[in-house]
Amino acid sequence: MHILIPTAEIYPYAKVGGMGDMVAALSRHLSKLGHDVRIVLPYYRNIKNLNLDHQIFLNNFKVNLPFKTINCRVLEYLETDSGVILYFIDYPEYFDREGIYNDRQKDYPDNPERFIFFSYAALLLTKHFDFHVDVLHGHDWPTGLIMPLLKCGIKWSAQIEEVKTVFTIHNLAYQGNYPLSYFKSIGLPESFLHHQDGLEFFGQISFLKAGIAYADHITTVSITYAREIQTDAGGCGLQGLLQKRKESITGILNGIDESIWNPLTDSYLTNHYDISTIEQKKLCKQDLQQKMGLHPDLNIPLIGGISRLVFQKGFDIVASALVDLLAENIQFALLGTGDDQIESQLTEISKHYSNFKFYNGYSEHLAHLIIAGCDIFIVPSRYEPCGLTQLYSLKYGTIPVVHATGGLEDSVNNIKDSTGNGIKFSPLTPYNLKIAILKAVELYQDDRDRWKKIMINGMKENHNWDYQILQYHNLYRSLTRIMHP
Ligand code: ADP
Repeated sequence: MHILIPTAEIYPYAKVGGMGDMVAALSRHLSKLGHDVRIVLPYYRNIKNLNLDHQIFLNNFKVNLPFKTINCRVLEYLETDSGVILYFIDYPEYFDREGIYNDRQKDYPDNPERFIFFSYAALLLTKHFDFHVDVLHGHDWPTGLIMPLLKCGIKWSAQIEEVKTVFTIHNLAYQGNYPLSYFKSIGLPESFLHHQDGLEFFGQISFLKAGIAYADHITTVSITYAREIQTDAGGCGLQGLLQKRKESITGILNGIDESIWNPLTDSYLTNHYDISTIEQKKLCKQDLQQKMGLHPDLNIPLIGGISRLVFQKGFDIVASALVDLLAENIQFALLGTGDDQIESQLTEISKHYSNFKFYNGYSEHLAHLIIAGCDIFIVPSRYEPCGLTQLYSLKYGTIPVVHATGGLEDSVNNIKDSTGNGIKFSPLTPYNLKIAILKAVELYQDDRDRWKKIMINGMKENHNWDYQILQYHNLYRSLTRIMHP
């Protein structure tokens, strides 16, 4: 099948969070199955600075938007190891910037124009294909408009006329909501605006709602999250529409990319291990303790966390639980960046406790050291569509302690005797988090044999994409009725 994936993020070229990881793994594994996979994404400054070898100029083309005409350039890049082809849409006025969506915390005010343009460019690009696109698979609000734009009667190209669309919700809370006045800039007929399932959303327009309303099929990144988004508590105002579309929603848990996240081959680690050499994991702990400036004692339980520090992720709850916890003989290694307030709370605590280390920033390298070097890993998210760090932890024998929500609910099973792979708790309060962490600490200290069994339970699980990808493959098959890759 010919699959086109427009996206604002794909690792390692442009990533803000788990969506970048997911799109990368999805496309590479689809290609491995034999599909022809093409990615379209903006040519951000960061990508330009990569100076990719073998990136070639494809063409220039004109995009007639309702508010202006843009001449853009397209670059083509073949990932030789995966076979995936990437098209970079180059329009410096919109994309030659520091960030993807924002500079630090302030969203670019022209984001609606940037992603209206990107939607048009992704569709017009198909004119230059010498094949018909079978499936177009968009991701989150930046690509939401593509879904109605394909259904409004505009003749984009013969290559995309018969296409089936899939829209993945990675996070329902990021909706791309903008003033109603932007509707004119999109170029859709009025009939796409003012009705219950149109683009209007509480007096604004919503790019995410556009994707949900007009895609042929919707997926989200875990079964529990697929259910939660249809409820008043988790629906972020879109529950009514999602309930209506429930027959067309599938929850598929993300996998992990084992070429990047595998303790046996991880290129960031000095020491490697798997189940048969599990004792070597302590060398990773030693490295981490040294790197973070923690007291070098392998018997002290070491607890890690890696996150965007935003309200969703619950690190304010961690901060409240810490005062009691840090009196214990335990250590923390946290990595994150985000809201100033949470950053300064954690920085302040780290000034007063030598057993609490917080690296305030973004570091792929340190993320791998933490996942490998810790004994316990916390994911205290208020809600979590899928969550990747708990899956990485399981693979690395680092026991996850998580709030039972979304993909965390689906991937963590409570320890019972020698079964289970971690600890989950609910509701999310500082007290419950503290108790859950102490439960893990107690097991670590009192029964190392059982602890090791639990580590192995997690490490044995199969969270790789070879399995998950079949679910997307089958979904595309059912939509297109094309049976071969
Ligand atoms: P989300 O997509 O909501 O941020 P996920 O758990 O799905 O959450 O994915 C987060 C991804 O981003 C993981 O790969 C995690 O390791 C990475 N990550 C988050 N914060 C940082 C950071 N400060 N440094 C390095 N990696 C980070």
